[in-house]
Amino acid sequence: MRASTTNIRTVCPYCAVGCHLDLVVENGRVRGLEYAWNSPVNAGRLCARGHAALAILTHPERLTQPLQRSHAGWRAVSWNDALNTAAKKIQRILSFHGPQALAFLTTAKGTNEENYLIQKLARILGTHSVDHCARLCHASTLTGLGPMLGMGASTNPLSDLAQADCLFFVGSNFAENHPVAFQWVQEAKDAGAKIVVADPRRTPTAWIADLYLPVRPGTDLALLAGMLHVIFRQGLQNTSFIGQRTTGVEALRTSVARTDPSWAAQITGVAARDIVRAARLYATAPKAALIYCMGVTQHVLGTATVRACADLALVTGHVGTKGSGLYPVRGQDNVQGACDMGALSGLLPGYRPVTDAQARSFLEKAWGIPSGTLPETPGLTVTDMEQAAGKTIHCLIAFGENPLVTSPDSGKTREALEQLDFLMVVDLFLTETAELAHLVLPAAAWAEKSGSRTNTDRRVQWSPQVVPPPGEARPDGDIVVDLARRLGLGRYFPYQRPQDVLEEIRRVVPAYGGITPERLRTIPGGIPWPCPEDNHPGTPVLYENRFATEDGLARLYPIEFSTVPELPDTDFPYCLTTGRGKLHYNSGAMTRRTPSLVARAPHLLVELHPTDAEREGLKPEDSVWIVSRRGAVKARVHISEAIRPGIVFVPFHFPDANRLTQDVVDPEARIPEYKSAACRLEKVTEARP
Ligand code: SF4
Repeated sequence: MRASTTNIRTVCPYCAVGCHLDLVVENGRVRGLEYAWNSPVNAGRLCARGHAALAILTHPERLTQPLQRSHAGWRAVSWNDALNTAAKKIQRILSFHGPQALAFLTTAKGTNEENYLIQKLARILGTHSVDHCARLCHASTLTGLGPMLGMGASTNPLSDLAQADCLFFVGSNFAENHPVAFQWVQEAKDAGAKIVVADPRRTPTAWIADLYLPVRPGTDLALLAGMLHVIFRQGLQNTSFIGQRTTGVEALRTSVARTDPSWAAQITGVAARDIVRAARLYATAPKAALIYCMGVTQHVLGTATVRACADLALVTGHVGTKGSGLYPVRGQDNVQGACDMGALSGLLPGYRPVTDAQARSFLEKAWGIPSGTLPETPGLTVTDMEQAAGKTIHCLIAFGENPLVTSPDSGKTREALEQLDFLMVVDLFLTETAELAHLVLPAAAWAEKSGSRTNTDRRVQWSPQVVPPPGEARPDGDIVVDLARRLGLGRYFPYQRPQDVLEEIRRVVPAYGGITPERLRTIPGGIPWPCPEDNHPGTPVLYENRFATEDGLARLYPIEFSTVPELPDTDFPYCLTTGRGKLHYNSGAMTRRTPSLVARAPHLLVELHPTDAEREGLKPEDSVWIVSRRGAVKARVHISEAIRPGIVFVPFHFPDANRLTQDVVDPEARIPEYKSAACRLEKVTEARP
């Protein structure tokens, strides 16, 4: 009998570039993948992670049945028993402690529809304590850009980078973290664009830089203030753009009057003449793009630094045109969509503040729930939930998140989660967090369920189900609807298919108003929001004529500089900074189980400069304890001239790396300080107690 073979296009489950890949399906099984050559997103290219994505679908460690903890260990239970148990636990906690004792984590690995459903369930139960990993990566983009520009998203598609005359990367190892999109950077470089990279490490992104700025961790704000000083002092600002499209320039100019390049050089460690050069290259380019990632956002100064990035783009007029723009490049594949769907403790779907009475009333009517159901105050963020666990939070339902690996000072996270009366984890694997749970539910992976996803371009794309999930695993969306019915809330969750949920999203989130399931399935490159109406083509470039603020003007913010909270000292003489590696992803739950990736990056490495290695008596591949005030972690030594002396770098994809980081947070965004912590190194001679 001849095998029947079809190719089905899906979206890569890893990063927010949102690459297409065509799965080759033979007799209902995925036999391989083919490159999506005609994709407007990636033109057939894939990175190592995209190539390895299929391994997840048939992985032998996938969860296939609900598991309940018992005195004798894990016990497989039926879905009926599992969800009845979950519903009873939730109801008991509700009746004893009220809705503020419940908390939910949604997932940037899930579809838009799934994120929408999870936050809807949380809110109808009476709590806004629903959050996800954007809190740990780009929350400061939302708090920074939202009030300034009207939206906290990338202004342009990544493909526009090819048309820029200057590309300024701040805290972004774009070449390794978003490797397929780096093609646009190389195209720009080939066409003569100037590349400026500010990073404590000379990353592969910096290898093609015309100007590399080896900034100390936590001092990007001083660098940007120094550049703004130069721009005003040398008259490089775009006066007509500032006059016609912004407010607040005088306060900004005053705030940077003293932040001259010498001042910035002392703080950042970057030569003053290079700060001047960077300012001139960026400001005088006809079209300039500013690309930033977690080097900017994951700080106690995250919101302030994001604002300074936007100030720089605005005073030079590099916003609102093709080839220019601000790119807060997202990490996980659907972190943009999860935010759009209201998977945030302070924002309802469509970024309406929880505190806005009209917005709450609109949503109550749209959902058909009694007036006053939605609380007036924001819920707890990821980090705040953990601090409240066992005190005011008694139940945590976590979809696809692994806080035991991703949260700062993760030793404390473990203690907090152990205090919960009920922890339920929905995931593909028995992750580090799932191992602590009372109930673990098996989830479907990306190609085992249908739904829309939104990449960092704001491009909404449909990813169809290609194969069934293994065993009894189910899509997150099905689990939420089933749980809601068992909680007596079925009338608010009348959906049969993800398409039905998207229809409701269109009515609730104005930017998705014209994004129908049919259009998504027929438009090959998806639709970039805002797309308010059915026949609207979408909006690749934001703010061409007006900003999304009430009066259409962008707000410039003055810069207030402060230092990071834990500087190196005699006991802890190094500055530890964390970030991504090129082969693993996020908590590593999928990539650390993928043989082709783990074979090439099997261990936690610590990168340090040769002078520091010599001082510590360390050689390549030595084992070393990295010790901070919060804990000690063993890692293999990687010696590299790419990092500044005095700084050590650790990728955060391995368990325990975050035992070292601090749980201090940005006061506005509540994003933790992942980029600087004082530490020392101790050569491993015997087991550390
Ligand atoms: Fe997947 Fe991102 Fe790699 Fe593209 S660049 S294949 S979306 S991980």
